[in-house]
Amino acid sequence: MTKGKLIVISAPSGCGKSTIINSILDDESIGLEFSVSATNRAPREGEEDGVHYHFLTTERFRDAVENGEFIEWEEVYPGRYYGTLKSEVDLQLAKGHNVILDIDVKGALNVKKSYGEDACLIFVEPPSIPELQRRLLKRGTDTPEQIVTRVGRAEYEISFAPQFDKRVVNEDLNDAVEETKALIKEFLA
Ligand code: 5GP
Repeated sequence: MTKGKLIVISAPSGCGKSTIINSILDDESIGLEFSVSATNRAPREGEEDGVHYHFLTTERFRDAVENGEFIEWEEVYPGRYYGTLKSEVDLQLAKGHNVILDIDVKGALNVKKSYGEDACLIFVEPPSIPELQRRLLKRGTDTPEQIVTRVGRAEYEISFAPQFDKRVVNEDLNDAVEETKALIKEFLA
């Protein structure tokens, strides 16, 4: 049986990443499995343990790090850890399934180091920083301070984009979904 491949999607917040990933997962012609990450952050409303994340205590997360249970892990925000579990990914790959990961830029680059040609890193980015700012303001879910933080983080993440295999500019969400799907199909073909 052929071994499966990894698709890694990274994007600053406000770039439509969740919508893009959900559309990809719903597309049976692509047939990807989602890698459920582990985190020590609290679940948000509507999030289920084992579905959106494996919600761990900080102690359990640290144990998992020490036991070598992660392919990669990062402190994405101060005190907030996120990691890709070997148990989520390697079993699926061994079965020949292709897996999609929603992880931050540094995690993505670490996955590339381990999986090389078996991983395709896709970076979804806004048309520009002012446009991202405008979208976050329009969304209305963040305070002005949070918007400044998100935009700063976006600039930092965009600085890693040249190291990704593919880049998709989300000018129009539907187009970005289609473009991402086409890149994935091409990689898996
Ligand atoms: P959120 O808390 O909003 O769900 O996610 C925050 C950030 O953590 C997002 O950029 C997401 O891509 C990233 N993230 C989620 N899971 C992982 C993971 O397993 N590893 C890494 N490195 N980042 C992750």
